[in-house]
Amino acid sequence: MTQRLTRGQKLVVASHNEGKVLEINELIGPFGLEAISAGSLNLAEPVEDGDSFAANAIIKAVASAEATALPALSDDSGLEVAGLDGAPGIYSARWAGDTKDFAAAMKRVIDELEARGCVSPAARRANFTCALALVVPGHEPQVYEGKVFGQIVAPPRGTLGFGYDPIFIADGETLTFGEMAPSRKHELSHRARAFELFKAAALPLEG
Ligand code: IMP
Repeated sequence: MTQRLTRGQKLVVASHNEGKVLEINELIGPFGLEAISAGSLNLAEPVEDGDSFAANAIIKAVASAEATALPALSDDSGLEVAGLDGAPGIYSARWAGDTKDFAAAMKRVIDELEARGCVSPAARRANFTCALALVVPGHEPQVYEGKVFGQIVAPPRGTLGFGYDPIFIADGETLTFGEMAPSRKHELSHRARAFELFKAAALPLEG
């Protein structure tokens, strides 16, 4: 059973990705937890050699919880493109290389879809997946997973968000995640959906 967190408790956000830390802080802010990022604690980044988002999320949360003896929450996420057999998937960050060049990573997605003849909207189905892992010292890791489905568009549009946001349009929307207000992205996103499950199971009860 999940250990429910309590108000005022410290929670390490086990990520060195500032875009994600920002989004997670916005989501947990209202619950009265004191969020501390792994980056600000100079925690080492563990090797993410799991074969799924959930496995990699657990690796990151376990590393932060063991290093700090505090509860830790991690996010492992990425873009899965149907026409590319699910790539870049768990390699989403690695496609951008050491310099985190997401313009190049988005170009690679678009070029590889074109090389495979995937040009129609139907051939450009994709989804983001987010696995949130919570590790409370002394308890089993818990994973909460969310997805958002949509399609890849080219060329990239918008400068908001991070990563692959400018080439992804969620079903029923006209703006890419890179164009829409962050508040709207937070209503729809894979991270928001995973967060809803995390909230129901582990965040302090409201009121
Ligand atoms: P991770 O830090 O290994 O989980 O890498 C996840 C990568 O997936 C990020 O660096 C982004 O490239 C991509 N990604 C995950 N979530 C999002 C999102 O909400 N928007 C755009 N790209 C995302």
